[in-house]
Amino acid sequence: NELATMMEVSTTDIISACMSLGIMVTLNQRLDAETLSIVTDEFGYEVEFVTAELEEAIEEVEDKEEDLVIRAPIVTVMGHVDHGKTSLLDYIRKENVIAGESGGITQHIGAYGVTLESGQKITFLDTPGHEAFTAMRARGAQVTDLAIIVIAADDDIMPQTKEAISHAQAAGVPIVFAINKIDRPTANPDKIKEGLAGMNLLVEDWGGKIQSHDISAKTGQGVNELLEKVLLEAELLELKANPDRLASGTVVEAFLDKGRGYVSTILVQTGTLSIGDYLLAGTTSGKVKAMQDERGNNVKQVGPATPISVLGLDGAPQAGDKFNVLEDEREAKQIAGKRAQLQREQSVRTQRHITLDEIGRRIALGDFQELNIILKGDVDGSVEALTDSFQKLSTDEIQVNIIHKGVGAITESDVLLASASDAIIIGFNVRPMGNARAVADKEEIDIRTYSIIYDAINDLKDAMEGMLSPEM
Ligand code: GDP
Repeated sequence: NELATMMEVSTTDIISACMSLGIMVTLNQRLDAETLSIVTDEFGYEVEFVTAELEEAIEEVEDKEEDLVIRAPIVTVMGHVDHGKTSLLDYIRKENVIAGESGGITQHIGAYGVTLESGQKITFLDTPGHEAFTAMRARGAQVTDLAIIVIAADDDIMPQTKEAISHAQAAGVPIVFAINKIDRPTANPDKIKEGLAGMNLLVEDWGGKIQSHDISAKTGQGVNELLEKVLLEAELLELKANPDRLASGTVVEAFLDKGRGYVSTILVQTGTLSIGDYLLAGTTSGKVKAMQDERGNNVKQVGPATPISVLGLDGAPQAGDKFNVLEDEREAKQIAGKRAQLQREQSVRTQRHITLDEIGRRIALGDFQELNIILKGDVDGSVEALTDSFQKLSTDEIQVNIIHKGVGAITESDVLLASASDAIIIGFNVRPMGNARAVADKEEIDIRTYSIIYDAINDLKDAMEGMLSPEM
């Protein structure tokens, strides 16, 4: 559609040009670079890929195996509200002072690193909760290696516990459970483990493979052992990075400080970042003037898996933006400027998500194998009934995955998960709550609500058979 407008030809002309190349397209489908070049050529135009050319300046080298060294795991803490996420992060922050370091962690920079007695390191993202985790993923950033999911042993497995589990699973991030508040007389860790088993999550003392540890974030009991288990789990992931290259990574947070200018916390994921490097972060750029760690120390250089607060960017990049170091300051500035311009021009987001209407067409095109669904309902019974029925719709060609289900309204966090996992949301007798609708519109997430089970199943079935009549 866009291309037709630009070249001032009809959309039918473009569709038939594509068909003659053996490509079936729809009005809103994005064409890849090669198809674009061929099709525009047919109409006497030549495409210039402005960003692609500029972005080539960003070093995309493949690391050689021998250059890789072990790096610290990056961990996010998730769980139900009041189950003790903040307390756990605070306890770890307070207790872990590297021997010989000039004091504890004094600055909240959005992430921090700790060194255990064994000498091994862990990096924590200091914004607890799956919303932050998934918001980053929805922006394309894969930062977290491991999730600690905190569950209060004097409570139950709560809706947000289930959400956190779904969010970690959807991201393919291994989970270590922290069964918290065991100092409380009413604590019953076994009940929690039983509950997890009921969800098909077998922890180690129940004969399963998932690590879990009983802790008290208040007294600190069990926290060291929990962290050892995190490290064990991390070992299996064989996390490595090459420190010997230009740094790149992800923005954790950024703000404008009255006195110092823009302050950004970034997480170096590969390479080494040094003072004086030319940084490109999202639509901002600048020369690294100063770096400070979470202990308030000024540092000159940082390696992989290290969070660091930097001064020198000419704006505040967004959490989840990628950053790169470039050889040339002017180039960094140019790319940042170009990106900002593109962002302004594309007020409509270009990344389109799947909708129920599109499913049939995509299946017919053969480029669609998995349908991810987030299912919310008013009562457990209907959620389970729909889960069963939806899963039964899976065919040889297409697998239906319920990546998250729960009782309650459709929340912003459901929408973010849908965006990060390219899912559609189905609500049964529930509606979007608060900001969820607005975020869904922005992220172009399809939300369907039903009050009759039969209708929901039929719509999905029709969609999969390519027979759904477009939503009015
Ligand atoms: P969050 O919402 O998950 O971040 O939970 P918080 O860390 O804010 O904890 C909620 C409440 O539980 C606070 O009043 C904490 O002091 C308390 N709390 C957290 N962990 C423990 C624990 O291990 N034992 C006890 N007794 N209280 C705890």
